[in-house]
Amino acid sequence: MRVVMTARSVTKPVLALAEGAKRIEDGEYTHRVAVAQKDELGSLAAAFNTMADGIAEREEQIKHQAYHDRLTGLPNRECLHIELEKAIMNSPSVAISPILLMLNLNRFKAINGVLGLRTGDRLLKLVGERLGSFVAERSMTFHLGGDNFVLLFPEGHGVEHAVDIALKVLAGFEEPFLVEGSPISLDARIGIAVSPVHGTDTETLIKFVDIAAHLAKESADNFTVYSSQLDKHVPRQLTMLGELRHAIEHGDLELYYQPKVNFTEGRITGVESLVRWNHPQHGLVPPDDFIPLAEQTGLIKPLTRWALKTAFAQKETFHQNGLEIQVAVNLSARNLQDEQLPRYVAELLQVHKIDPASMILEITESAIMVDPERSMRVIKQLDGLGVNISIDDFGTGFSSLGYLQRLPVDELKIDKSFVTHMDKNSNDVVIVRSIIELAHNLGLKVTAEGIETLEIYTMLEQLGCDRGQGYLMSKPLTVTQFNQWLRDSKLGSTPEVL
Ligand code: C2E
Ligand code: CA
Ligand code: CA
Repeated sequence: MRVVMTARSVTKPVLALAEGAKRIEDGEYTHRVAVAQKDELGSLAAAFNTMADGIAEREEQIKHQAYHDRLTGLPNRECLHIELEKAIMNSPSVAISPILLMLNLNRFKAINGVLGLRTGDRLLKLVGERLGSFVAERSMTFHLGGDNFVLLFPEGHGVEHAVDIALKVLAGFEEPFLVEGSPISLDARIGIAVSPVHGTDTETLIKFVDIAAHLAKESADNFTVYSSQLDKHVPRQLTMLGELRHAIEHGDLELYYQPKVNFTEGRITGVESLVRWNHPQHGLVPPDDFIPLAEQTGLIKPLTRWALKTAFAQKETFHQNGLEIQVAVNLSARNLQDEQLPRYVAELLQVHKIDPASMILEITESAIMVDPERSMRVIKQLDGLGVNISIDDFGTGFSSLGYLQRLPVDELKIDKSFVTHMDKNSNDVVIVRSIIELAHNLGLKVTAEGIETLEIYTMLEQLGCDRGQGYLMSKPLTVTQFNQWLRDSKLGSTPEVL
């Protein structure tokens, strides 16, 4: 009897221990072996449990290390893949879908170099903390290493929402970081990719947010939304962006001037300024090759300011030389979102003592439609300064008549696609005639662009078009060429020349 009892009191705990070992082998560390005995088997069980705890803890650590950045303690790239995958799977609808923001710090390497790695590390920790404090409950901050952070919003609401968040984060970076009592300002740059517009799988979204973040480094806007046009020639575009920024800052851009003839007066009464890039390797680069890139990346803001500054200064020089002509400058869609632009124009008018009525700002129809309310505010302020507003590429966009009537517009420019083949295409004639009538009914002037033949010049004159521009009169010219052209052409500006 006693023998049996002993056997049982030994076999049961041993079985329990064997069972525990089996569970650990299967990766289940939370299981505890219950052996209440105070003998050797009891202490063996206790030791066994402690060992299981240790394994569990170490496994937790390893897991944490595998999924978290050592420096900031934030979840890392592996974790981002997992969480983004989950977010994509769980997104309740197309309207509610994940948003990714990738943040880099411009010139962080230089900070590390100057202030030392320790300070650099301190800063990265603070950046991680600050990012954590901006983001709402249902979002996560990841640290992919170095100065590279990602914010994931599993339940985002499209591109605009993403831009809103980016602006908030950027605003939060305006406050310097305090490291050992010294304030350090960081230049944060954000790339944005949004599901489902930019991609519907983890790999694509992460790749695209990375491209956008790269481009944001060159952007004047501090953030860049991914666009498929951006990555067609990413390496080339990245180099070009860097070069373009340099060109704007170092005077490699040049404004050319194309004469605008006044049909009734039969002479030049204005010019349109058109930008060219004197590239050290590629020679003269036309605007269509770099304006779209500038528009997508925010570099258009400094570019336009440069164009305005140059054109206004040139206007003053024309005036000083006794040449009274209107000067037109092209604005882009993004410029109409820039509420500081009117003040900049006002300053230029003052500095160069220019009659505002002698300046024209050309805006495309489609640009106004990007954010009609904000554009309207900016356009009204520009109009309030007394400068002329012209609707460029008219006929190619979708702006409603009602909209035009609400805008303080002075001129419509008929897009050259309707003008260049007017002599061969009767549809074009109908369109051009309607635009001229429409403009005149609204009390606006009309300019036709793309006049290449005398025949078309005459047709437009007969249709009552006010002004014309095209290779027939002249291609866009440098200032020197333009002055020479004025002297040579019978369309030259001063009536005495005629
Ligand atoms: P746009 O504003 O519609 O300018 C008219 C374009 O038509 C110019 O091209 C001009 O050289 C061209 N053109 C003029 N006459 C003729 C003609 O008889 N036949 C033909 N086929 N073309 C003619 P460009 O200079 O290459 O400029 C292209 C576009 O780049 C401009 O179109 C404008 O949208 C943009 N752009 C140019 N300069 C600036 C600038 O300073 N700022 C901004 N934001 N955009 C600019
Ligand atoms: Ca134009
Ligand atoms: Ca045009």
